[in-house]
Amino acid sequence: MVSPQATLIDPFGRSINYLRLSVTDRCNLRCTYCMAEEMTFLPKQQILSLEELRDAATAFVELGVRKIRLTGGEPLIRRDILKLVSSLAALPGLDELTMTTNGVLLPTMAQPLKEAGIARLNISIDSLKADRFKQLTRVGELDQVLQGVRAAKAAGFAKIKLNAVILAGFNDDEVLDLTRFAVDNGLDISFIEEMPLGEISSHRRHDTQITSGHIREQLAAEYQLLDSTETTGGPSRYVQVANSDSKIGFISPISNNFCDSCNRVRMTAEGRLLLCLGNEHSLDLREILRTWPGDSERLKRHIIQAIGDKPERHYFDPEQVDIVRFMNMTGG
Ligand code: SAM
Ligand code: SF4
Repeated sequence: MVSPQATLIDPFGRSINYLRLSVTDRCNLRCTYCMAEEMTFLPKQQILSLEELRDAATAFVELGVRKIRLTGGEPLIRRDILKLVSSLAALPGLDELTMTTNGVLLPTMAQPLKEAGIARLNISIDSLKADRFKQLTRVGELDQVLQGVRAAKAAGFAKIKLNAVILAGFNDDEVLDLTRFAVDNGLDISFIEEMPLGEISSHRRHDTQITSGHIREQLAAEYQLLDSTETTGGPSRYVQVANSDSKIGFISPISNNFCDSCNRVRMTAEGRLLLCLGNEHSLDLREILRTWPGDSERLKRHIIQAIGDKPERHYFDPEQVDIVRFMNMTGG
């Protein structure tokens, strides 16, 4: 029997207390840096059921995971997502349940999500110009996401953070506008360096790379940025915008490797436990969940064993695609 005190410590002494749980690989947008134009999605039977997702999450929480972020694909298009949220929010020992969404469905779902138990929300938005937003997402309507942000504010989440992937030549001229939008609305914002996950055709990732350092320089021209030690348990390094409630985060997987403080693992919608975003190695938890349904002890033993294989760090080279999996498979 797995000791009730067992926690997840990897071979490099890092304590794993954060799970990113992808609930679907499907999405209602097609962001150019995230997906190819033509995508093949997983057949439904390969996707974990709500019960399987809950059983896996329960095992992680019993092993010391304190924070779960639901992601995808687009988590809000998963049927019965609110049921899953309610069941996870009730897990004893889980401190925080959060979600990353593209915001399209928030106008109707923000309030029910809050009531079901989502504490904090990340909303991805890469441009405030409608035509450019459509170009970056291939099909998206900016207005829906802006309405989604308003609905999330009205629902009263403890914190809302915007996420923006900045691509040189596409939206790097909007760093200040996006920040102003966040500050004016009392929101935080994180700027994310594009990662070379999956083979895309819209641009060469090498040409669109822009570092967090460069973005910070742009911001410093307009805002006084105060270094902050605050962390939300994720990879963002934060600065506080002086005289405002907003923080700006930088997620720098390319320019500033943050692996030494990594506290997280990911589970894909088909139940693959990924120990590192930048490595393909994974453990098939679906096989265990389906062969021995309800055997949480066995599941926990396998998870503990898998953590022993967590790599020390990722190596990303924007010149080449080392990781064939797209970000919608991985979950942000
Ligand atoms: N669909 C939801 C959304 O867009 O917020 C959740 C899933 S999405 C994969 C999670 C985050 O990953 C988003 O903020 C998205 O911008 C980011 N992302 C997707 N592909 C990326 C890439 N290649 N490099 C860096 N970030 C990426
Ligand atoms: Fe969908 Fe999110 Fe990927 Fe955009 S980044 S295609 S919204 S999963």
